[in-house]
Amino acid sequence: MKSSGSAPRLAPGLAPWAARESQSRGRSYPEPAHPYRGEYQRDRDRIVHSSAFRRLVYKTQVFVNHEGDLYRTRLTHSLEVAQIGRTVARCLNLNGELVEAIALAHDLGHTPFGHAGQDALHTCMKSWGGFEHNLQSLRVVDQLEQRYLGFAGLNLCFETREGILKHCSKRNARSLGELGKRFLGRGQPSLEAQVANLADEIAYNNHDVDDGLRSGLLSEAGLSRVPLFRRHYEPVVRRAPHAPRRVLIHETIRAMINEVVTDLVATSRRNIAARRLRSSDDVRALTKPLIALSPGVLAEHLALKRYLRRHLYSHPQVIEVTSRAQEMLKAVFQRFLADLKTMPPEHAARARAWEAELGPAGRARAVADYVAGMTDRYAVSAYQRLVDPRARLP
Ligand code: MG
Repeated sequence: MKSSGSAPRLAPGLAPWAARESQSRGRSYPEPAHPYRGEYQRDRDRIVHSSAFRRLVYKTQVFVNHEGDLYRTRLTHSLEVAQIGRTVARCLNLNGELVEAIALAHDLGHTPFGHAGQDALHTCMKSWGGFEHNLQSLRVVDQLEQRYLGFAGLNLCFETREGILKHCSKRNARSLGELGKRFLGRGQPSLEAQVANLADEIAYNNHDVDDGLRSGLLSEAGLSRVPLFRRHYEPVVRRAPHAPRRVLIHETIRAMINEVVTDLVATSRRNIAARRLRSSDDVRALTKPLIALSPGVLAEHLALKRYLRRHLYSHPQVIEVTSRAQEMLKAVFQRFLADLKTMPPEHAARARAWEAELGPAGRARAVADYVAGMTDRYAVSAYQRLVDPRARLP
């Protein structure tokens, strides 16, 4: 499938339908403007300074941290999302600072051990409203970070919070006021939020190919069954059959990202041009996103995603590590819940306070917040302390 459209043009300034700070719905706690930093820039700075952001470096993307130093972590994943997002924002005259803030924050609520950890925590929280990592990212920036005298959380702008909350169940959306509305109706978030969302998809699809090949769980021969990979890999090998393997892989992945991003820009530009948009709120009133891939490239992108799901995310070697990690997470959750004294005093105090206010669900939520905030290695050491000092991940 050839990518559609010409090379993106760069033009200065924000489009009328971009998010503008002058039209922002603002922060929950009003704050005076900063003399030389914009509001979305301040949001990004707050995110980068948060402790949840620093913990991302020790949280699993696909491969658990101890498996190797070169694999993506949640932190490097978030940086790759931000840089793809910034490029797209720039080509479409959208607000790159907002895209960057959303991208850097989008995974702050991720548990240790990637999606496996999230599923484990969701199981633990089943009777008390479950666990959703998108919603948890919002909890981190709205409540859990403690850095200001005047309020809990980071007090981010509405637009940043809107972008962070990518998915949400209807039940949870009902308790989120303005922010939850679009999950109850059929509205869309800002174009900047839509860009960050697709940048996330493009980033992980491509970097997981790289990590999968590095790990030996994927091979070039196997991946050549995927059209998007094959179309870029074969010409690179023909051009330089004796080049080092790593270089061939990087050339291929670079070309794949380039094709998909170029298509995303061209398709989104056409989608935007086909509407008479006057503002970011016009985007919110639509029933479908405008930031999108063309049908052909989307089909290929999804085929790669399916391939990764089948051959990497559910590879027996990945499952062996993640299912052990799930057992560990469930065990530490149950220990903390049964005996709050096994948690650090501030978390135990919060669990008691929320239990007094909300009953057993409040107590469990405080434990889930604590467990979700852990890094991979911290979760393993908690398990060693509480359950089995000799336990290791495979
Ligand atoms: Mg992500």
